[in-house]
Amino acid sequence: MSELQLSDIRKSYGSLEVIKGVDLDIKSGEFVVFVGPSGCGKSTLLRMIAGLEEITAGDLTIDGERMNDVDPSKRGIAMVFQSYALYPHMTVRENMGFALRFAGVAKSEIERRVGEAAKILELDPLLDRKPKQLSGGQRQRVAIGRAIVRHPKIFLFDEPLSNLDAELRVHMRIEIARLHKTLATTIVYVTHDQVEAMTLADKIVVMRGGVVEQIGSPLELYDDPANLFVAGFIGSPK
Ligand code: ADP
Ligand code: MG
Repeated sequence: MSELQLSDIRKSYGSLEVIKGVDLDIKSGEFVVFVGPSGCGKSTLLRMIAGLEEITAGDLTIDGERMNDVDPSKRGIAMVFQSYALYPHMTVRENMGFALRFAGVAKSEIERRVGEAAKILELDPLLDRKPKQLSGGQRQRVAIGRAIVRHPKIFLFDEPLSNLDAELRVHMRIEIARLHKTLATTIVYVTHDQVEAMTLADKIVVMRGGVVEQIGSPLELYDDPANLFVAGFIGSPK
């Protein structure tokens, strides 16, 4: 059974339709990557899945349950953004635990989960630092840590590496692949970087202008792109 299901999902801002009927089944544990040019609707789609944006039409289900009108905090989803604004006055430990404290989770349980996430992300030595004492890559790991402590079923990443320099991006890409293996969770990931998509994805969704052009494994898209747009975007020789 698919864990996350999008069925004719649409989004309009006023009279402008920006998501024009997206269908997609995501299985538990799958790493799905959305690619497409700027403005094609990747972030909007992710925000609708997270519940940060109202769905104009269509059905979003998680484990068979319709989620369109369910509160973001009750969807079992955690989102990591491109601009990973950490609270500057809080330590790494406090940044990671904040959402849980806000949700009323017991202090001992917060400590346990922060410790667990710090171990996965190798942040132990940095727990008492403030964000300004961290490198870009370390800050991004804290942002991912904030998502991990919530024990989500599904992680959503919106261009999480685009603010990092090229070398760090490669390093973090490997970290994210490792994270996916370690946690065995479902990941929905947005990027405009083809290499990121090709190396991370079980399944790539190529979007253009609010519609899905093609869905397939990296190899399928490379070997058999549906059209010139997909071929150009994936870098296939066809
Ligand atoms: P992407 O993440 O692929 O770059 P977005 O999802 O951010 O694209 O945007 C998709 C389209 O929706 C764009 O044309 C954008 O201008 C439009 N859009 C996004 N948010 C709003 C908004 N709040 N109001 C009006 N239009 C929006
Ligand atoms: Mg975007």
